[in-house]
Amino acid sequence: MGTSELVSGEIAEDFSAYFLTSEQRPTAIALGVLVAPEGACLGAGGVFLQPMPQASEETISYAEKKIAEFSNLSALIAEEGAERILRERFGQERYEEREIVFRCRCSRAKAASAVLSMGREDAEKLLEEEGAIAVHCHDCNTDYVFTREEIAALFGGEEKK
Ligand SMILES: [Zn+2]
Repeated sequence: MGTSELVSGEIAEDFSAYFLTSEQRPTAIALGVLVAPEGACLGAGGVFLQPMPQASEETISYAEKKIAEFSNLSALIAEEGAERILRERFGQERYEEREIVFRCRCSRAKAASAVLSMGREDAEKLLEEEGAIAVHCHDCNTDYVFTREEIAALFGGEEKK
């Protein structure tokens, strides 16, 4: 495992710096989100370019010129759409399309096993202090709350020490 310094706080610039210092690969990244005053997302997307191992200097400088066209990426996507940008500016056809969704892998069962891993003694101590045990998922902000009865049922199979 390694770490890479954040250079600017701008995600695209930090990713570029990461790929250069960590993987020694020149990488051009442009990212953008255009949000309407009422909060709706009008255009969001990113361009990620890395040269293939045998890329010529000519190809790389062509890509460098192209990425400069994406300085206002979110507005461009809102106006033209990502597919038109790929087709008309890069002459690319779509290879694959996947729906992107945010899905958290947490579940009540996983939260319950986290409670079990505390051990009965600590769980009961926490119950006495709090009245219930809440497991919070920091990825999706879900709270799994276990009542006294649920905790008793969870540890039901275990002998109290
Ligand atoms: Zn979650």
